[in-house]
Amino acid sequence: MRLKDLGEFNFIDRISRRVKLSSRVIKGIGDDAAVLKWNRDKYLLFTSDMLLEKRHFYRRAGGYLIGKKSLSAGISDIAAMGGLPEFALVSLGVPGSLDIGYADELYRGIKSVAKKFKIDLVGGDTINSRKIIIDVALLGTVEKKNVVLRSKAKQGDAIFVTGTIGGTFKGKHLSFTPRLKEARFLVRNFEVNSMIDVSDGLIADLGHILDESHKGAIIYEKDIPVSKDAKDFNSAIREGEDFELIFTIPKAEEKKLMDTWPFKTRCSRIGKIQNAPKGLYIAKKNGKKERIKPTGYSHF
Ligand code: ADP
Ligand code: MG
Repeated sequence: MRLKDLGEFNFIDRISRRVKLSSRVIKGIGDDAAVLKWNRDKYLLFTSDMLLEKRHFYRRAGGYLIGKKSLSAGISDIAAMGGLPEFALVSLGVPGSLDIGYADELYRGIKSVAKKFKIDLVGGDTINSRKIIIDVALLGTVEKKNVVLRSKAKQGDAIFVTGTIGGTFKGKHLSFTPRLKEARFLVRNFEVNSMIDVSDGLIADLGHILDESHKGAIIYEKDIPVSKDAKDFNSAIREGEDFELIFTIPKAEEKKLMDTWPFKTRCSRIGKIQNAPKGLYIAKKNGKKERIKPTGYSHF
């Protein structure tokens, strides 16, 4: 069998099943970042993201934006765990023919994000490659009481999403701001039961929460904040690379959240968590309720 027959997520599952973990690991494969024991009050968070030319970006977008995106994607994953990013390793595959000015721009982008989010760039690796590859490994920390997994969504939880969804390939996927301050506000003030950042698509990433939590959900088309850049509703909820947060909180905290949300970025309640056998349903604007397959972007 070939990888593309297995699919990206089955492949990751297969790796996960074959890896034995020590008791130092709180959460290994299967969340936005690994959660590792560290000290009395905090866990370490550890994540990496790889960007490949012609898949995640085109060279003509310019080194600066591509550099920004490479570090911002990792920050988005650390945010989705409720934590703070601290140290980064940046590994590059670059052709020898690349203009040095272009490489400088890549680092100017990376450094601008590092400065904004107070991240130290402490190393990496460099190889020669035909296409540009950027891999950022990010180490973060989170107070034990604030860590949020994908797997703890509770029945009755309200499901929220930040910002708007869809149309990201018109530019947002290169210039987004990871929702770190929003995530920190949430974990400090609310009982956030589950959270994920939207990289595979709204439906697919909500699907990851439901899978990991063994729950179902209903979402309401009328409440989903579709970007004006999106082609249509169906592509908006499946495209991916929105880098917004999906999170769930107990229904009892819903009003407090709507009353106290302090950011310009939107925060929309889009549905609620239900018991497992129910799957994922969408209540359409036309009044119909449909079962929806949580599919989105897969690399194979
Ligand atoms: P995200 O979109 O949040 O970055 P991914 O979909 O890339 O997450 O990965 C999902 C999970 O699978 C993560 O826990 C990640 O660490 C893990 N993972 C992905 N690829 C591999 C791999 N080749 N080996 C081990 N774990 C992997
Ligand atoms: Mg993620």
